[in-house]
Amino acid sequence: MQPRYITIHSTQNFSRGADALRHSEALKNGKLRARKLRGYNRIGYLVWHYTVDEDRAVQHLPTNEQGEHADFSGPGNRYSIGIEMCENKGNSRSATIERTAKLTAYLMQKHNISLRKVVPHYHWPRRGVSQPHKNCPHYLLDNGHPGGKWQWFLAKVNKYYQAIGGSNPQPSGPSINSYGQIVSSSAPPSPIKEKVYAPASSRYHTVKKGDTLSALSRRYAVSVSAIQRANGLRSSVIVLGKKLRIPAS
Ligand SMILES: [Zn+2]
Repeated sequence: MQPRYITIHSTQNFSRGADALRHSEALKNGKLRARKLRGYNRIGYLVWHYTVDEDRAVQHLPTNEQGEHADFSGPGNRYSIGIEMCENKGNSRSATIERTAKLTAYLMQKHNISLRKVVPHYHWPRRGVSQPHKNCPHYLLDNGHPGGKWQWFLAKVNKYYQAIGGSNPQPSGPSINSYGQIVSSSAPPSPIKEKVYAPASSRYHTVKKGDTLSALSRRYAVSVSAIQRANGLRSSVIVLGKKLRIPAS
């Protein structure tokens, strides 16, 4: 792989001890399996380049190899370095974010990647998944979308990047695109085609004959209770023709 982007994730693994070393062991021992399926996971495993916690960053994969962490056979996996931030109990989130920002700045410098190509996992739509834009890393997104928190993180990355003498010209007078990323009109257009889907939070489903809450739950990969909550339903009865809000999973 010739890395052109850096993709930021968080593990959503909240168990005690699920730190960077533990993830490293799990990857090394082939514990993180995923179903290999045409159009979906290509290798039967989940794998990414770095995991960061409050104490360290561990590299699992050379940066010239593709990971399987973002969007199956999409550009996120084909062109980006994947970084996972740990969320295990007791791990300091702020220290993890600082270390991730430093690592990102270092990788930008090393691979000549600009700030506008530092993206949240959210950025890469996953084809064939009911919620194409994953709410990841959830704590750097606002209601599942890049916003102020993501800007705050990018500013931090940029601070470290400048501190190490970042050689990459950064956009002057940045503007913000729909992903909440800093972009510059003078920046060359990305050669990678990216399909843009409607935000997941605006999904609705109009109840058709034969629909049940459990079927909708499977179809949209959200729990029955989440659909009930989002629509104020007190039972599993759904009314034909009613427009239901489908919350993010
Ligand atoms: Zn992710």
